[in-house]
Amino acid sequence: MRAARSQNTAPEILARRAAHRMGLRFRIHRQDLPGRPDMVLSKHRTVVFVHGCFWHGHADCDRAKLPKSNSKFWKNKIKRNRLRDRRVNAALEDLGWRVVVLWRCEIRSLDAARARLALAFESAEQSLSN
Ligand SMILES: [Zn+2]
Repeated sequence: MRAARSQNTAPEILARRAAHRMGLRFRIHRQDLPGRPDMVLSKHRTVVFVHGCFWHGHADCDRAKLPKSNSKFWKNKIKRNRLRDRRVNAALEDLGWRVVVLWRCEIRSLDAARARLALAFESAEQSLSN
């Protein structure tokens, strides 16, 4: 069973706005790719996921702290989510896609999202300015 995943969350929209302003072209939520990436940049053969720190178990992140009650349940749940993420990434890489993960804690503002995307698409940006 796949966990329910909400779409068009605030961080996703922020990431899209940032990508748009950088002149990156993308499609959203392509159904035909594993894990239904949040953004697909075909030209760069790259997919982008915006991951919630808690649900995807961001390592060493304040936002990923587990609740004290029911901790065993949460631990297992997050562990399963992380395994699924790993399977999805591997499947995408097998298909020749590069996978970029943006954690919510990294993109708290539009500027932060742009900076993060600039890192991921440095080569893309260079080719755009040439
Ligand atoms: Zn985080």
